[in-house]
Amino acid sequence: MPTLHRPSYGTRALAPTGAVMRCASWRRLPYAQVMAAQNRVPTGHVDASVQCLLFDGHEGQHFGLVDSLEYGPALWARWLEASAELVELPDCAETGPPPDPAGCCLFTGHAERHTWEASCW
Ligand SMILES: [Zn+2]
Ligand SMILES: [Zn+2]
Repeated sequence: MPTLHRPSYGTRALAPTGAVMRCASWRRLPYAQVMAAQNRVPTGHVDASVQCLLFDGHEGQHFGLVDSLEYGPALWARWLEASAELVELPDCAETGPPPDPAGCCLFTGHAERHTWEASCW
């Protein structure tokens, strides 16, 4: 089994006022894109709805993780106003501070902060 780095949803506590929040934008992928994505991921199954994993208030396009691929990059959906497009992006290699460096759940070159900079991710 390849190691999947899909973040777990639902266990994150509600952040207190003023804390860093995740972007609330999401897209439902059209059937053809879901089929195209399922042909590319090792699990053979992806969710039709994708939530942006960047921080709330970020600029530019939204990026939601579709799934990890078996080797190298992960499959992301990218959207702004119109429909989403599927893109393969390498993982962000930046890690948190020692002694227990955490990995970032985003992709190389993403905007804003790394996911390990917010305890609520
Ligand atoms: Zn977003
Ligand atoms: Zn990062």
